[in-house]
Amino acid sequence: MEERRGFTTRAVHGSRQVEPVVEEPAATPIYQAATFIFSDIETFAAVGKSKISGGYLYTRWANPTVDALARTVADLEGAEATACFGSGMGAISGALAPFLRAGDHVVASTHLYGGTHSVLDHLLPRAGIDATRVDVTDQAAVEKAFTDRTRILYAETIGNPALIVADIARLAEIAHARGALLVVDSTFTPPCMFRPFEHGADVVMHSATKYLGGHSDVTAGVLSGSAETIARIRHDAIDTGAVLAPFEAWLVIRGIQTLALRMERISSNALVLARALERHPAVECVIYPGLASHAQHDLAARLFEGGFGGMLAFEVGGGAPAGRRFLERVRLACPAASLGGTKTLVVHPVSVTHTQLSPEQLGAAGITPGMIRVSVGIEDARDLVADFSEALS
Ligand SMILES: *Cc1c(COP(=O)(O)O)cnc(C)c1O
Repeated sequence: MEERRGFTTRAVHGSRQVEPVVEEPAATPIYQAATFIFSDIETFAAVGKSKISGGYLYTRWANPTVDALARTVADLEGAEATACFGSGMGAISGALAPFLRAGDHVVASTHLYGGTHSVLDHLLPRAGIDATRVDVTDQAAVEKAFTDRTRILYAETIGNPALIVADIARLAEIAHARGALLVVDSTFTPPCMFRPFEHGADVVMHSATKYLGGHSDVTAGVLSGSAETIARIRHDAIDTGAVLAPFEAWLVIRGIQTLALRMERISSNALVLARALERHPAVECVIYPGLASHAQHDLAARLFEGGFGGMLAFEVGGGAPAGRRFLERVRLACPAASLGGTKTLVVHPVSVTHTQLSPEQLGAAGITPGMIRVSVGIEDARDLVADFSEALS
């Protein structure tokens, strides 16, 4: 008879999975493991060689829970493959680095997330890559911004925070005619609403921290595209290490299950709130793609399915002090950065999210001193309207 192993040995190895589970669990298992054990050394060597395909060896390379999320996002996005990152910013670096080298040039929208401005202004120049900002709703200006060194055109589907709507199919044509890639940050337009890959985008990025996760409890990013593009991106991500952890992937998998339901409620709440704000005497203007007054309303109506999303902005009379006063007065809406969760969040971009921009850049990005940006949540619409009206009066 085999001698009984020592206490610590039994404590360490006792939980090892001896038989595969046949029944499918109703929730995706969290493979909270940094490494995987091989019984067959030939397979060990083969998986080590291929890294990202054909088996699991080390979680920075590939993990079954993270892959489950990647498969889901690729399918919903109408793309061939998806790579997952530890944050939206990790995904943005992951989308740019594989396709750029010293001397290259990027054409980017003037309307971008603050962190993306920072990458273009600080990280890329140190690597010898420069960027030209352009109003992506002005096709002639976009075409003019290209040089023979331009490798990437970068835009947001709905530009942060002034909410301009980009014609992705048109931008894809312009980029492809000049041998460049179109990288699209689609964070404000989750795939139940819009799928940029189907309109010609080469890489579609989401901060999954926002609508995909949907509950303000996880930081994550995803990139979707062709199998070839995503394989290149994943190879670099293994080296930079900005990968997503299994539990974080699981939270996004859970969030995505209610994505369409949340977006339905969020979009209808946003339209009700936008219309109420338009009528309020203390409000100078409301920017929401679902309003007829929005400069790209017709384009938005043509592109977006099931509503116009949850991001709206408005201008309070009285400039920056009035903007800050509104944030102090709301009681239901939460003054908080980020967006895309169940709770309604409000920010004052000139004081919080876009402080790194110069006055000229603020002007170009359409950010005015009294501007408030709202991420509309799933609360009851009349409670939101009451909260905003009281805070404004
Ligand atoms: C939040 C956000 C990002 C950055 O994502 P993180 O998950 O915070 O790293 C990028 N783009 C947009 C439009 C965002 O809202």
